[in-house]
Amino acid sequence: MLTMNNVSKRYTHRRSDVYALHDANVEIGTGEFLSIVGPSGSGKSTLLLMLGGMLSPTSGQVTLHGTSLYDLSPNERAKMRKQHVGFVFQGFNLVPYLTALENVMIPLFLTNAAQETQESRATELLQRVGLGDRLDHKPAELSIGQQQRVALARMLANDPQLILADEPTGNLDPETSSIVLAFFEQFISEGRTIVMVTHDPRAAERARRKLRIDGGRIIEDAGIKARIVA
Ligand code: ADP
Ligand code: ADP
Repeated sequence: MLTMNNVSKRYTHRRSDVYALHDANVEIGTGEFLSIVGPSGSGKSTLLLMLGGMLSPTSGQVTLHGTSLYDLSPNERAKMRKQHVGFVFQGFNLVPYLTALENVMIPLFLTNAAQETQESRATELLQRVGLGDRLDHKPAELSIGQQQRVALARMLANDPQLILADEPTGNLDPETSSIVLAFFEQFISEGRTIVMVTHDPRAAERARRKLRIDGGRIIEDAGIKARIVA
């Protein structure tokens, strides 16, 4: 469903050019749970952003469902992202002055659905992550683990087939991390695909396939790959 062909990203610095990613080739099948590991500065975030249509490669192609993402106009690419991709960040990126319900409704504002439909959908999503009794809480009134679950509910709002996660357990204690990882297992069993950048060995262990990056190069690609479904 997602491929990178000979993808490089070069940043031009004053003294020299840096390849954040060098000639990456990856094929990710529907239903895969893939982790990306490697030292800080090795190119993990660069890879994730390019997979999500958020950062243009210097050369090479990224395709999602057979569509070359960076041959699309920025508007078309944004539309593709909204239809297929959900993001989870380490810092949750919740809006502090909005309630949990309103935060989850953000992606739904852009749909034409009636206000009540948006509200009931957001309520269901918060119930799904165990926060049905926290709809009107603002992020600061929730524990860190609860904030991450609000972020998961918001990520699910557009029913993404592809979930991209950057250090999703990075701010969480072991107990809360395992709750988030259990949700990831559920998302996989629903047929979604997850690509997760992580420093957390326990999180990396849960993924079936592990990609190791060092110095902008993929140096290891191990584990179970799903049958590739374009
Ligand atoms: P990681 O996520 O593994 O920590 P990154 O993908 O963030 O690594 O960065 C890879 C390399 O690219 C690093 O050397 C970093 O300094 C460089 N880099 C990342 N973003 C930029 C940018 N916007 N401008 C210049 N260099 C960048
Ligand atoms: P946890 O033990 O799950 O990390 P806390 O001890 O921080 O959570 O909070 C316990 C409960 O109290 C949580 O369910 C949270 O929703 C609620 N809570 C925490 N802080 C506030 C607050 N400032 N206002 C309202 N509810 C809060």
